[in-house]
Amino acid sequence: MLVTLKDIYPIAQEKQMAIGAFNVVALENIVAVIETAEKLNVPVILAFAQTHEENQVASLDILGPIMVMAAKTSSVPVAVHLDHGISEAYIEKALKMGFRSVMFDGSSLPFDENVEMTKRVVEMAHRYGASVEGEIGKMAGVTLNHEGITENRKSKRSNYTDPDQAKRFVELTGVDCLACSFGTVHGEYFSKPDIDFELVKVLSEAAQVPLVMHGGSGVSHEDYKRVIKNGVRKINYFTYMDKAGGEGINAIYPIQYYHEALRAGQKAMQKDVEAAMRCFANMD
Ligand SMILES: [Zn+2]
Repeated sequence: MLVTLKDIYPIAQEKQMAIGAFNVVALENIVAVIETAEKLNVPVILAFAQTHEENQVASLDILGPIMVMAAKTSSVPVAVHLDHGISEAYIEKALKMGFRSVMFDGSSLPFDENVEMTKRVVEMAHRYGASVEGEIGKMAGVTLNHEGITENRKSKRSNYTDPDQAKRFVELTGVDCLACSFGTVHGEYFSKPDIDFELVKVLSEAAQVPLVMHGGSGVSHEDYKRVIKNGVRKINYFTYMDKAGGEGINAIYPIQYYHEALRAGQKAMQKDVEAAMRCFANMD
C-alpha cells in the first residue's frame, strides 16, 4: 500500500528500527526492493533521486508512475519518495505523479534561504498530503545541490550539522524529518566512515523529528545499529546495491541474452538489499 513517511515513522519508532530508503534507477531495482520488503514483511521507502535525472541514469517520467503502482499493489507499506529535490517544479511533478514523500535539499544555500525555500516546499507538499524531509549541514561525496553536481570526498567536521541550527530549522520550516551531516559520505567509501555517534544522539534530541542518514550504503552493520540506537529512523541506500548488481552480472559474464544480465543483476541486488533490510529492522 502507498503511504507517507509520517505513516511509517511511528512503526520505526515503536520497533526502534530504521526504514531503508532505496534509490531506484531501473525496474529490476524496484522489484528487488519490493519483493524483499514483502518477504521480510517490513515497511520500505522507494526513492528516486533528482541527481539520477541530471546525470541521465534514469527518468522520473518513466520510473515514477511504475514506483507508485508498485507501492499501491504491494502487501507492505511503501512510501514513494523524491530524494534530493532541488527545484520546486521538479518536486511538484513528483507530487502530481503520486509521490507522498519528498526531500528538498537546500543544504548548500545560506541558512535563511534554505529556511525560506524549504518552508515553501513544506506548504506545497502538505497540500498534497505528502511529508517533507529537509537538510541542514553539508554532506561529503557526490551530491546534486544548488551549485550543480559537486564532488567533495573529505568529510569535514566543520560541515557537520550544528544541533542548535537543526532545532531552529525544524521549528521554522515545519519539516517532518531531517537529513543531517555527521560523518557519512554520498557514493562509494574510499576510507572507513567516521561517524560521530554522540552527535547523532544530540541532533535527534534537538531536532525532535526523525533523523535521516544519507550515504547509508557501505556502512558496517555495527555502525547501523549504533546510529539507529541514537535516533536515525531512515537510512538512504543506493551505491552498494548498485555495485552488487554490477558484480552479479560480471559473475555470469559472458552472457548471450540481455535478460540474463537483468536477472543476475536483480538477484544480486536482492541479496544485498535483504542483508541491509534485516539489519535495519533488527532481524539479523
Ligand atoms: Zn543524500
